[in-house]
Amino acid sequence: MFYKASHQVYRVRAFDQFDWLEHGFGTRRSENFWPADRVATLHQVHSDIVMRAGGSSGRIGDGDALIENTPGRLVGVKTADCIPLLLLDPGNRAVAAVHAGWRGTVSRIARKTVKHLEENFSSRAEDLHVAIGPGIGKCCYEVGADVACQFREYDQALSDLAHSAHLDLAEINRKQLIESGVPSEKIYVAGLCTLCHPDDFHSYRRDRDHAGRMLSVIGLR
Ligand SMILES: [Zn+2]
Repeated sequence: MFYKASHQVYRVRAFDQFDWLEHGFGTRRSENFWPADRVATLHQVHSDIVMRAGGSSGRIGDGDALIENTPGRLVGVKTADCIPLLLLDPGNRAVAAVHAGWRGTVSRIARKTVKHLEENFSSRAEDLHVAIGPGIGKCCYEVGADVACQFREYDQALSDLAHSAHLDLAEINRKQLIESGVPSEKIYVAGLCTLCHPDDFHSYRRDRDHAGRMLSVIGLR
């Protein structure tokens, strides 16, 4: 489903069928792969704010998800443990990039991005393809009871905790996308833990203040 392409970027086979599309999930060795003057990014603030890039590039505002349909332009998010999501509406040729940490996931940023695609580009959830990229895995993502209990609706094991627990952020985002109406067979999950794979990925939990960020992008050629 996911494979490593040239320039150490992870790509999704299901997205390759669209020859007008560019996409990729960054690794620690793909930093300068995409030309900065074509990529719109955000000052990411762990919010549920979705912005329409509208042909802009550079850092265009505060928020955690970008939508776009302008040919030649890319939208990107930077991560180092948080979950990057790339969304694609093939029929309307529209895309989105989402940064989902635990705060963004609590506020359902994936669902809100689907809604923005519907409102801005007449997308329908059932037509979307979504790739859930490399991020911290359940294996390594231990959080306190105060954080874990906010996800109890997605995992019975997280109810009434008095101790820390392991969160599966990718799986919770997958469930939110399904709730939004995205078919499960069109959701592709990398299943790659950033903390477990130091050769490939930056990890904030592993490297703390020395951690770099990986850029993941999507856009129309
Ligand atoms: Zn791990």
